[in-house]
Amino acid sequence: MRKYFILDTSSLLRLIRDQDKLFKILNNGFIAVPRRVIEEIRDSNSKIILDTIRDKISIIDPSPSTIHKVLSEAKSIGSIVELSMTDISIVALAIDLISRNYDIEVLSEDFDIQNLCEILGIPYSSVLDRRIKKKLITKKKCLVCGKVYDASLNACPFCGSNKYRLIKFQYGN
Ligand SMILES: [Zn+2]
Repeated sequence: MRKYFILDTSSLLRLIRDQDKLFKILNNGFIAVPRRVIEEIRDSNSKIILDTIRDKISIIDPSPSTIHKVLSEAKSIGSIVELSMTDISIVALAIDLISRNYDIEVLSEDFDIQNLCEILGIPYSSVLDRRIKKKLITKKKCLVCGKVYDASLNACPFCGSNKYRLIKFQYGN
């Protein structure tokens, strides 16, 4: 069975601009993206090229329940603050296709998407061959009282300040 390559917006743009790479991918499988990825391609040159390969791209939106699952996972590891709804949809689409027994691979240079894939056991790689070295979770560190708290909270639960910086910890420790 041929493979589905699920692309994030920057990977799709990269392949639009590098047709050698694009056809290498298409020789090995299909390209699938959620609608949001297509909507993020706005510059007119890329849109023109996208139109010419439009029949080679399957636009599949993930199910709302899978999106919900991915959102709560992203919340629990704190990366919810660094992922867009498009990023969440890409990971959710991967899960939906895996559950339908498709062989898939997510293509993304984004370390937060890669990290979420790694934690959820979703196969991924990158067009430029860059991969994360270890799994991470994200937390907020309060700039006022210095305490560390859950990244999904809008303000420090200890002092109420909303000034923070993001810090990373190794996942699973
Ligand atoms: Zn605080």
